Amino acid sequence: MQKTVYLDNQATTPVDPRVLDAMLPYFGPKFGNAASRSHRFGWEAEQAVELARKRVADLAGALPREIVFTSGATESNNLGIKGAVEAYRAKGDHVVTVATEHKAVLDPVRRLEPLGCRVTVLPPLGDGLFDLDSLRDAILPETVLVSVMYANNEIGVIQPVRNIGAVCREKGVLFHCDAAQAFGKIPIDVAGDNIDLMSLSAHKMYGPKGIGALYVRRRHPRVQLAAQMDGGGHEFGLRSGTLNVPAIVGFGEACAICARELAEEATRLCDLRDRLKRNLEAGLDRVFVNGSMEHRLPGNLNMSFEGADGEALLMSLPDVALSTGSACTSAVVEPSHVLRAIGVSEQLAHSSLRFGLGRFNTAEDIDYVARRVIESVRKLRSLAPV
Ligand SMILES: *Cc1c(COP(=O)(O)O)cnc(C)c1O
Repeated sequence: MQKTVYLDNQATTPVDPRVLDAMLPYFGPKFGNAASRSHRFGWEAEQAVELARKRVADLAGALPREIVFTSGATESNNLGIKGAVEAYRAKGDHVVTVATEHKAVLDPVRRLEPLGCRVTVLPPLGDGLFDLDSLRDAILPETVLVSVMYANNEIGVIQPVRNIGAVCREKGVLFHCDAAQAFGKIPIDVAGDNIDLMSLSAHKMYGPKGIGALYVRRRHPRVQLAAQMDGGGHEFGLRSGTLNVPAIVGFGEACAICARELAEEATRLCDLRDRLKRNLEAGLDRVFVNGSMEHRLPGNLNMSFEGADGEALLMSLPDVALSTGSACTSAVVEPSHVLRAIGVSEQLAHSSLRFGLGRFNTAEDIDYVARRVIESVRKLRSLAPV
């Protein structure tokens, strides 16, 4: 079998072997229900959950009781956005977000409209960043919530979250931040950033799938939320359902590893990412980076290759696991809404690749991928010269 280089770490990351080791006992002898109060099995599970809660909180600069475990960032976005709008109905009915958000933010926000909510979707700037004056202008007296992601899943662009938080605080509106891509990759501090609600996902940071959390601020201000899942009152009454103990343990372990290794890993991935960009630019003309290089996640590179279709590129690279900036929704290939929103032409959006570098990629992987992409782009261009 030919080896495949995995370069799609923004879609999901492999589980770190240390995370798997930490989880295994909770699939075996430590199988207790964390809500069982009358025996050792329950206590053991609860203790493991509380250690994990502390580890997640520590990495975010939060308190353990501000962490609500959910099934992932999609659920956290739904709980944070719908739950806040429902709880603050008396205050207003307006939400502000940005066109480059993940569908897991845009779709829940859209769902609120038929319920009588008004939504403002701000356009980003050409580099994927976001203009604070347009945010200031968009916030109305009836605005309840602003939702802006920490770092983008397609172009890796990191928003000026601290400044966005300051504007929200100054205007007295809640700030929700989808940090699924940023958490564990760059330092995050909910206090300094004035974040009120923050969505997290374990499988983007070398933890297991199907587990995540919502950070809910408890002080200055104490954020009110309406639960979206009732039954039993688990997780401070905000998210009922028996806790997924093994996955929570894995999420906690993933956070502890990131806390220790984040700085070193970020430097290494930035170097690899820049090496990939240099190689591609040296081997090909008419290549364009999408989104700001300066304000970008360490492990992300998104480039358009003029004259080479992204889908065709992926087909010619079966030995590299990558994503293109087009998504097959139903039968048609749609260009990415993120690339379109930052002003990339439809054609260049269809010619884009997202390189998602991660913990287990090596310099050899990167050089191999660069060589293969250069070959494939040249071949495709020679087949259909412009
Ligand atoms: C992956 C991702 C999500 C969805 O997270 P799940 O845990 O898979 O539900 C939401 N937002 C962003 C920015 C993501 O990258």
